[in-house]
Amino acid sequence: MTPVLAYIGIGANLETPRVRVLEALEALAGLPHTRLLRQSSLYRSPPMGPVDQPDYINAVAELETRLAPAALLQALLELERRHGRVRDGERWGPRTLDLDILLYGDRIIDEPHLTVPHSGMQARAFVLYPLAEIAPDLWIPDLGALEGLLARCPRNGLERLVEESG
Ligand code: ATP
Ligand code: MG
Ligand code: MG
Repeated sequence: MTPVLAYIGIGANLETPRVRVLEALEALAGLPHTRLLRQSSLYRSPPMGPVDQPDYINAVAELETRLAPAALLQALLELERRHGRVRDGERWGPRTLDLDILLYGDRIIDEPHLTVPHSGMQARAFVLYPLAEIAPDLWIPDLGALEGLLARCPRNGLERLVEESG
């Protein structure tokens, strides 16, 4: 199989979320048949959904992978588990780590456990802005130019974190 560019959305809002996101980037780099090509800065965003939870730290990673979509999803869910995510059923509730497949090449996937492009990504500042940082010219199947999506998506309090020196 020829390698495919896949984009992964990373989010965490519990237990030193910055560290969680950095660890997740390392873990993505270590996935089998996969290379981490680019990573965005870290961003801070107000929670989506229930508001009585901490802010999120988000980032987006660009992978080159030979894993098939289902295998990639399984690997991500396994990483979430290893990083201590407990699913308590509350939608968009707090989590130590969330890894979503945003894009898998130019594929459109509509299966019970996998929707690609990730549903809702066109309206999520914490996805679109980090994505634009590493792939500004992206064309998204069904949705069009990333640039156009950005123009219609307010930042909603999203803040890019500046690297701290030392
Ligand atoms: P959202 O998907 O709206 O960002 P969430 O990330 O909190 O919400 P999860 O609880 O992480 O949702 O995921 C629930 C299920 O979504 C997963 O078990 C997975 O099967 C399914 N899913 C469907 N499409 C995707 C995708 N593109 N990436 C990751 N999971 C997906
Ligand atoms: Mg998610
Ligand atoms: Mg998820």
